[in-house]
Amino acid sequence: MRIANLAGRATIVTDEGILDVATGSNGAFSSSLDRCIAQLDTLKVWFDAAQPDPSEHIKPDDFARDPRLGSVVTSPQQIFAIGLNYRHHAHEMNLTLPSEPMVFTKFASSLCGPNDELPVRGATTDFEAELVVVIGKRSRDLSLESALDVVAGYCVGQDFSERSLQMRGTQAQFSLAKSHRNFTPIGPWLTTADVITDPNNLAITCSVNDVAYQDSNTSDMVFTVPEIVSYLSTVVELRPGDLIFTGSPHGVGQGQKPPVYLKPGDHIVTEIEDLGRIANAAV
Ligand code: ZN
Repeated sequence: MRIANLAGRATIVTDEGILDVATGSNGAFSSSLDRCIAQLDTLKVWFDAAQPDPSEHIKPDDFARDPRLGSVVTSPQQIFAIGLNYRHHAHEMNLTLPSEPMVFTKFASSLCGPNDELPVRGATTDFEAELVVVIGKRSRDLSLESALDVVAGYCVGQDFSERSLQMRGTQAQFSLAKSHRNFTPIGPWLTTADVITDPNNLAITCSVNDVAYQDSNTSDMVFTVPEIVSYLSTVVELRPGDLIFTGSPHGVGQGQKPPVYLKPGDHIVTEIEDLGRIANAAV
């Protein structure tokens, strides 16, 4: 199942069209996608049994471009992001592979919809295509084998980063540098975990003005999705709606020779196999 946030209302997306969750279920489910994520199992049971017709016929690829689409999760209690989690990306940054996941946060006020504008900050704003994990169940101390059981689904994300601020100071400022306004677009919708047989075998790309800079596969991750979820759960309690940015593959702007940074007028398209695409215009 695919479920989007259309102008603040949870909306199911099928190959035939879209359906408002609250209206289609006669109020059995909330219009809030945040609330639906916490009861995704029952929502899926209802949807599979009822097989409701779409209220509007539109192709998913066309719907994905709707400017009214909002962030898949609007009020996560926690956003985690993993640094240097692709082998080839660590290599292009001239850094050694981490021995355990390197964790920072992106603050929630930077979240935005999949097609929202990116206000460029400074001369070194960079792009990072990322697979985003959405947590569906409250959990702690997960084994590797049970880690994916608490994942509600996945979406496409960008971890836009202001490199000068990120690297300023003797201890790098990852979290602030990645939390400017609209630096965290996600979408175009949540694809539920049952649809994705292996989150570590998905093509992931990012292009700027139709030039493909990032072209990789989530199989290049240093720590797999189950390893990241399990690792985080040994420290913190994971909660429904929590987001995990799983790192970016090689080809980011800073890794180009010479570096390529974003400027107003640029068009950034980020795509992951089976999850869709998000498109952001730099302003
Ligand atoms: Zn990142």
